[in-house]
Amino acid sequence: MKRFCFLLLAILLFVSGCSFNSDSGVSDPEATDEVTPVPTEKPQTGWVEQGGRYYYLLEDGSKATGKHEIDGKTYCFDSNGLLIILVNPWNHKPDNYKPELVSIGGGKYVHAMCYDDLMQMLSDCKAAGHTYRIDYAYRSYQLQTKLFVNSLTGYLWKGYSREKAGQLVGKATAVPGTSEHELGLALDIVDKDRPGRNSAQANTDTQKWLMANSWKYGFILRYPNGKTNITGIIFEPWHYRYVGKEIAKEIYESGMCLEEYLEAM
Ligand SMILES: [Zn+2]
Repeated sequence: MKRFCFLLLAILLFVSGCSFNSDSGVSDPEATDEVTPVPTEKPQTGWVEQGGRYYYLLEDGSKATGKHEIDGKTYCFDSNGLLIILVNPWNHKPDNYKPELVSIGGGKYVHAMCYDDLMQMLSDCKAAGHTYRIDYAYRSYQLQTKLFVNSLTGYLWKGYSREKAGQLVGKATAVPGTSEHELGLALDIVDKDRPGRNSAQANTDTQKWLMANSWKYGFILRYPNGKTNITGIIFEPWHYRYVGKEIAKEIYESGMCLEEYLEAM
């Protein structure tokens, strides 16, 4: 993947004067005075990172929104110009990606950009009478590697070939570099009384509430039932991904998964 660059230098260019009078739009044949070149600042362009949020500035200095082809790769931005990062088995997290992490307690961290909405969602979930437990939030590349290797080893011990074991693990535990947990924007939230991370989790009261309401707080159920061939990941009725309220609402109402939504954008 093309590396992100953080262009922070503004280039001062001296632009030669225009041949017309900017007030009237009509040139004055009598005017002989030389027009003094006015120094103008060329707009900053390219990738910009602000607190773990990524934007792309176009030629005119405005933030790219919607879908853009940049250096041969397609990127999607929300209406505020924020890059919607797609991470799945076919899309590695961006090089140099660095989330701005904040603690949510219990030694767990999330990206600052989803903190307020997450806290509100958990508070409302609790107020609705449900109990929850957060199994995973942000994971470093190192932790993702450890989880992947542990899971792989388990399958190898069961007698699966290395290739088959790799396939089975990859559907539930992402290959390091391709986990949304590494973005700091994903959480595994389970019912505290029935915490099993399996399809039955979808039947718990906590999960029913989260699946019906998470979009209001900017979170989507990232790996819905029946979308495995598109997401590459099994049905996970506990894994929530933050995409912001605007997009979460559209995804929830359309029934699309993130890949489908970005494709249709
Ligand atoms: Zn997860």
